[in-house]
Amino acid sequence: MMSDSPNANAKWSKYTIEGDELVRAETCPTCGPGVFLGRHSDRKTCGKCGHTVKNE
Ligand SMILES: [Zn+2]
Repeated sequence: MMSDSPNANAKWSKYTIEGDELVRAETCPTCGPGVFLGRHSDRKTCGKCGHTVKNE
């Protein structure tokens, strides 16, 4: 079978700590809920469809 289990994205945390707050990671607007954007220094990228959001 295809290896498309949700665990494929497990290496990316679904939550991030900012200061003392637990902030939910951003999801991909194209793939929808459940697909989270990978965090990079200057952008966030969806590992599934390649959607990229630049950090302002
Ligand atoms: Zn996506």
